[in-house]
Amino acid sequence: MSDFDYQKGVLHAEAVPLPAIADAVGTPTYVYSGAALTRRFQQVTEAFAGQPHLVCYSVKANSNVAILRLFSQLGSGFDIVSGGELARVRHAGGDPRKTVFAGVGKTPDEMAQALDAGLLLFNVESAEELEALDAVGRSAGRPAPFALRVNPDVDARTHRYISTGLKTSKFGVPFEEALALYTRAKKMKGVRALGLDCHIGSQLTATAPLRAALSKVAQLYLALQARGHALEYLDVGGGLGITYADETPPSPAEYARTVLDATRATGATLILEPGRSLVGNAGVLLTRVLYRKQTPERTFVVVDAGMNDLLRPALYEAHHALQPLVRRRGKAVEVDVVGPVCESTDVLARARPLLLPRAGELFAFMSAGAYGMSMASNYNSRPRPAEVLVDKAAWRVIRERERVEDLWRGERA
Ligand SMILES: *Cc1c(COP(=O)(O)O)cnc(C)c1O
Repeated sequence: MSDFDYQKGVLHAEAVPLPAIADAVGTPTYVYSGAALTRRFQQVTEAFAGQPHLVCYSVKANSNVAILRLFSQLGSGFDIVSGGELARVRHAGGDPRKTVFAGVGKTPDEMAQALDAGLLLFNVESAEELEALDAVGRSAGRPAPFALRVNPDVDARTHRYISTGLKTSKFGVPFEEALALYTRAKKMKGVRALGLDCHIGSQLTATAPLRAALSKVAQLYLALQARGHALEYLDVGGGLGITYADETPPSPAEYARTVLDATRATGATLILEPGRSLVGNAGVLLTRVLYRKQTPERTFVVVDAGMNDLLRPALYEAHHALQPLVRRRGKAVEVDVVGPVCESTDVLARARPLLLPRAGELFAFMSAGAYGMSMASNYNSRPRPAEVLVDKAAWRVIRERERVEDLWRGERA
């Protein structure tokens, strides 16, 4: 059974009717299923059972501290991309020693904080960053453990905005330069090579690009070992896709088979950095219809969630299915579901067949657990949504809706 399903015509999260949450907390509100989060995490760890591995949940997909705590209690480590995310992980009780730090622009301050916290691995993305990390390690009197993030130059065949493994991408070090950099690093006192890393992109729905990339990276790993670099970790990144509409991404088991086949020869401990695949289908965004508007060209439905609450459609032309919280019968018409934000790209669902919604009717944007709330902003001075976590028949607010006073916190008139 899906964790978001109709029971007697009413959409539920586990055993909780979603209209009850919308009425109590208001809209827009993100709702997550604890069972869905837990099951997805366990599917990944089971798929890699028998192989030394560490799951490092990618915090940027959904960084609510309740979700970080849940994953931490399941044994997860974390993949972070900023000092802010490190602080969140620690606040939530996550283990810095199971945490890896990626990103092309880590500041020396962020590096020093992470080294001090006992971070597992810095995933270094350029020669100059390696030198900066060396300086941080020397002044701390403790070498910083690092992996180079290499760019294997494969096309992940995903949206170009979430593809990161091509030569033209800002991410990683060109494959050909990696050997020389590890050799240089050997002479540095502030860093210690401990692994090799890659991440080719997000929302991957085919295994072939992953297999191609990891085969190249595994060969490099073996070449480095042969040259005396004592590596332990092979970080294969994240990127496993989910179903938003009719995509058919690999199952966790198929994904694991691809990764294991490509990397087995290395004998390395694998680091996995799943984000979207753990949280994407475990969350929905509840919204209420404000108005309908008929023009000669189109039928618009204006809802109370906008691109500031759910940016993915505007940013990536992403598709989120839209389901009514209470089912009814009738004939579908084609509508554009738009938010209140003053931007033409504030279209959350374009040309969708829907029963012409009525003012006040409630809907859920499905598959909104990843890159939803974590990308929300205050654009148009809109307070950010509340977040709710469901556990069977119980639910609790895990983030209060922002108040208008929060909008100008820190500002001086
Ligand atoms: C964003 C990111 C991930 C997670 O990607 P998903 O597609 O959400 O699984 C993993 N690793 C790195 C380095 C990332 O930047």
